[in-house]
Order: sequence, then C-alpha cells, then structure tokens
Amino acid sequence: MLLLQQIYGRTLIMAIIITEDCINCGACEPECPNTAIYEGAEDWRYKDGTNLKGDIILSNGKDVNAEEFQMPISDEFYFIASDKCTECKGFHEEPQCAAVCPVDCCIPDENNVETEQELLKKQGFMHKPD
Ligand code: SF4
Ligand code: SF4
Repeated sequence: MLLLQQIYGRTLIMAIIITEDCINCGACEPECPNTAIYEGAEDWRYKDGTNLKGDIILSNGKDVNAEEFQMPISDEFYFIASDKCTECKGFHEEPQCAAVCPVDCCIPDENNVETEQELLKKQGFMHKPD
C-alpha cells in the first residue's frame, strides 16, 4: 500500500499532503473527520471540528492555542493542517481525502512520519469527550 512504508521492520505512516496538482474542486474538505483540510488562503484553527479548547500542548510538543486562527499553509490550493491529520486513523480504514480526490494529489507527507500508535493518540487527544 502506497501510504505505508516498511523501514527497519517498523510500519511508518505519514500525514497526507496536498500537492500543487490540486484543482480546487473541494471534494476532500467535507470528508475529513478531523477538519484538517482547508481551502487555499483560509485561516484555520485547531478547535475546528475537534474538542480542543484554549492552550494545549500537542503530542509533538508544540504549544498552541486551539482557538487562535493560524496562517494558511497555501494561498493557491487546498491544504492540510498536518498537526490535525491522523490519516483518518480511528475513523476510517483509509485516508478519505485520497479516496475522493479526482486527481490523486493527496499523497503521503514524507516530512510528517508517525506511527499508527502516535496517530491514534493524536486522534484521541483531539476528540477527547468533554
Ligand atoms: Fe483528513 Fe484523513 Fe485526509 Fe488526514 S488523511 S487530511 S485526517 S481526510
Ligand atoms: Fe484538491 Fe483533490 Fe481536494 Fe479536490 S479533492 S480540492 S483536487 S486535494
């Protein structure tokens, strides 16, 4: 499977990134269970579509405020906030954005490699019940 890499016997999984081949169709955005996909030039928040509130420390050690607007990652095409992408772990068997994208431009992000356990922890943290 394209989204998994076997390295030194460990299965590594990557967050997904949208490439510049994106045609801005918008099909992926409503499919994301973590609200990690935004239209180009749109500000985004950690709290969108999650239970995150106030000051939080992410599993990667980043200190952020869930309610503050963050700068867009792309001004030209749809983008994924990788801190919120769990490769759909905990919700679906496969990345939903990649499954619906008509031009196959949702691909593994080699700069964001996480284990399945890390992704599930991230998913649990974002959607912890009140
Ligand atoms: Fe969202 Fe899943 Fe795509 Fe990540 S892989 S951006 S969680 S739809
Ligand atoms: Fe871009 Fe693919 Fe999402 Fe359409 S489905 S907005 S082409 S990434």
